Amino acid sequence: MNTKASMKELVKVGKKMVSSGLAYSTMGNLSKRTGEDMIISASGCMLEELEGRLVTVSLDETVENEMTRKASNEINAHRKIYGKTDALAVLHGHSRYAVIQSLIHKDKEALAPTDLESLHFMKEIPMVKGDFGSNELAQNVSSALVKHKGVIVRGHGSFARGKTPWEALTILHVIENSSFINYMIELSRK
Ligand SMILES: [Zn+2]
Repeated sequence: MNTKASMKELVKVGKKMVSSGLAYSTMGNLSKRTGEDMIISASGCMLEELEGRLVTVSLDETVENEMTRKASNEINAHRKIYGKTDALAVLHGHSRYAVIQSLIHKDKEALAPTDLESLHFMKEIPMVKGDFGSNELAQNVSSALVKHKGVIVRGHGSFARGKTPWEALTILHVIENSSFINYMIELSRK
């Protein structure tokens, strides 16, 4: 797939993330690997309006230029994920129930999906900490994604990796759906 087609694909996925409640306003970002570069959403843009708001930057963390400064604040997390895993796409959403569950279960290091559909994709969803755009977040998220397809940053949102943006989108859905189901189960027991 060439750069133009990849950008078109990311524009479509960005719209899906927002229409599915996986991201909102200017929160969230996404990227796709293209060899030694990645196409990533620009900082401060809305995911449902990514036309003209995608930039191509090197995966090399030492490269800093006009494009890297335009890129999402989570550029380091995306770079580290591609550095440590075989991912070809990374999505970061801010879905509600994933955040709620991560704040309710502060004593846990991971959530365990209970519904069969979610279990088919993930046996557990790790939860890590780290401030917005911080090195701690980039390190924790990328380390968790070595063994897992998705991770929740506590009180913040979720990251997912995939061979395609669509695969990563499915993982974001799984994280949110299983968080919602678990939340309702817990509520019904009170
Ligand atoms: Zn975020």
